[in-house]
Amino acid sequence: MRVNYSTTEVPAGYKCTECGATNCKLWREYGFFSKILLLCADCSAKSQNKDIGDIDADGKYTSDILGPGLRTNLIGFRMPAIPTEAGDAYWSCTSVPQPAMEWWRRLPTRATGTSNALGDQHWGTGRILPD
Ligand SMILES: [Zn+2]
Repeated sequence: MRVNYSTTEVPAGYKCTECGATNCKLWREYGFFSKILLLCADCSAKSQNKDIGDIDADGKYTSDILGPGLRTNLIGFRMPAIPTEAGDAYWSCTSVPQPAMEWWRRLPTRATGTSNALGDQHWGTGRILPD
C-alpha cells in the first residue's frame, strides 16, 4: 500500500505492537533490524522508561539528556517510524525526505478514541533503507 504524504493515511500494519494504537505517530527502534517493532508514544516511553509528559503535536518533548530545555522526538533508543512512499520500508534517520517528515508530524501524537490491543505480538513489515 502506497503512502500519500499529503494525507494523514497510514500504511497497513502501521500499528502499535503493545496497545494497537493506529492512525497516530509511531516510533521504531534506532538501528537496522529485520523485524520492525512499532510502538506508539506512550508504549515507547514505557519501554524506554522516559517521561514524555509534555510531548507536543510535533511529537517532541523535553529531553532528559540534551541541554536544558531542548526538545527531541527521539524516545530513548526509539525514533520516528517514517515509511517510504511505497510503504514497504522505513527511512533511516539521516535520509528522511521533508514531505515524509511532514507527514509524520501531521499525524496525531496519540491515537484518539479506543483501540484494540492486538493480543499477539505484531510486527510491522518492511525494511529500513540504508543511509
Ligand atoms: Zn501503544
